[in-house]
Amino acid sequence: MTATSNALSTHGAELDEIQRRRTFGIISHPDAGKTTLTEKLLLFGGAIQMAGAVKARKASRHATSDWMAIERDRGISVTSSVMKFEYNGYEINLLDTPGHQDFSEDTYRVLTAVDSAVMVIDSVKGVEPQTRKLMEVCRMRNTPIITFINKLDREGMAPLDILADIEENLQIECAPLTWPIGMGKRFKGSYNLYRKTLKLFTPGQERLGDDGELFDDLDNPRLDRLLGSQADELREDVALLEGAANPFDLPSYLKGNQTPVFFGSAVNNFGVGEMLEAFLEIAPAPQPRPAASRMVAPEEAGFSGFVFKIQANMDPAHRDRIAFMRICSGRFYRGMRLRHHRLGKEIVVANPIIFMAQDRALVDEAWPGDIVGIHNHGTIKIGDTFSDKEPLQFVGIPNFAPDYFRRVLLKSPLKAKQLQKGLIQLAEEGAVQLFRPVLGSAFILGAVGVLQFDVTMARLRDEYGVEAVYETVDYATARWVQCDDKQRLTAFEKANQANLAVDAEGNLAYLAASEWWLNYVGEQWPEIIFLKTREIQ
Ligand code: GDP
Repeated sequence: MTATSNALSTHGAELDEIQRRRTFGIISHPDAGKTTLTEKLLLFGGAIQMAGAVKARKASRHATSDWMAIERDRGISVTSSVMKFEYNGYEINLLDTPGHQDFSEDTYRVLTAVDSAVMVIDSVKGVEPQTRKLMEVCRMRNTPIITFINKLDREGMAPLDILADIEENLQIECAPLTWPIGMGKRFKGSYNLYRKTLKLFTPGQERLGDDGELFDDLDNPRLDRLLGSQADELREDVALLEGAANPFDLPSYLKGNQTPVFFGSAVNNFGVGEMLEAFLEIAPAPQPRPAASRMVAPEEAGFSGFVFKIQANMDPAHRDRIAFMRICSGRFYRGMRLRHHRLGKEIVVANPIIFMAQDRALVDEAWPGDIVGIHNHGTIKIGDTFSDKEPLQFVGIPNFAPDYFRRVLLKSPLKAKQLQKGLIQLAEEGAVQLFRPVLGSAFILGAVGVLQFDVTMARLRDEYGVEAVYETVDYATARWVQCDDKQRLTAFEKANQANLAVDAEGNLAYLAASEWWLNYVGEQWPEIIFLKTREIQ
């Protein structure tokens, strides 16, 4: 598909607005240093003044897990869902990919709204499971990824071993742009292999805006004075890398085949600025997006955007819901009239919200790459497209096969209708996935993070007046099933009734007790396609 149609009538200043935007997310396993890195990035942008601000929010977020905390979390996490800051003339939108106990489908879906990602790896632990899961999602759209290897101030894996670990476990080529000098107690700093500059590490000292010292000849004896015996180690490493490491290749990075790698220590603000500058230089500006009918380019004059996240009850007093829309093309302004294509209705966006690092504010104008929040009274669904005229439907906003399941049992059978209504609406908002077993009547809920169940139960009670309880079910994974051969599909359905369910949109899914069992069934039924993700329609 190519970007055709709509006259590319955006020029000059408006094109600049697009070119200077960077919209990205950070992927990492819990404790690798995402929050610390986020905080340092926001400090660079002047979006926050004080170290510890993001941390404090995170601490309150994980303090307790009762409903009040969830409610408060959602109040908190919405302002941190999108953190907008400026640096050196760039407008940066950092989208939060919640981890830990709030890990949910939102975590995955946020990655459908970014143009690139930064991956944080703990140098002590290497690649960890959640990094692997998030990487799979980046793969779906070949999202370009920059890697930050963190905690070099601790004794970790040898740098070459970390690169090998990433290449092997994440199937992506690594191209180091900086190289560490020692680690832990012997951590002396890093050498930029491209700029040929040396940066010295001073433990515990924040170093803003330090460009380092140029060493285009590593034989310079000053290097020995600065690094002592470690100067020779660096020389050997660099000589080795010249032969062994992959040279950085911009097109490979942009295609998601190669990741440029930086080494540093987020908590010491070491290597962060260097990575940020490289990020601004090489990370893609807002990219074209596929719609069902054609590719939509950000430079197009016509406005378009899609909803990738819905946040409910951000203000407990108002019970409002906010739909997060990623702008894909054209200019957005307050009071704009937009067409909600799925419903064939027009809406006037009177009070759009833009998300700042620590606040939210009314927005007057926004551009491709920006995220705006629009108030929603239960009519907006994840994946919905809005535009100013042309009927478009953006594609590629998936449901992800859940890893956790619960059966819902009503306390009062009289509330069956409300339960159904609530669950359907919550499923449309993407809060949880809903399955109706082919055999049996109780609904089964699916989630990729267990906190989704608590939130769903609390919302059923508060918003729909339904008291229900959960029962555990013996499922560990699910796949949507498809088959071109109608006869085989019927035979499959007949033989596997006890494991089949229909999701909220009427698609058939197979619920399996284990991965092993799923593989076994897959082998028995080679004509059946088992899908791990399903596009939202
Ligand atoms: P997140 O769970 O990925 O958001 O990780 P955090 O940013 O909360 O970091 C987890 C822990 O690692 C915290 O105790 C941080 O202070 C610590 N940490 C972060 N960066 C570094 C670093 O560069 N070196 C060391 N030694 N600890 C770090």
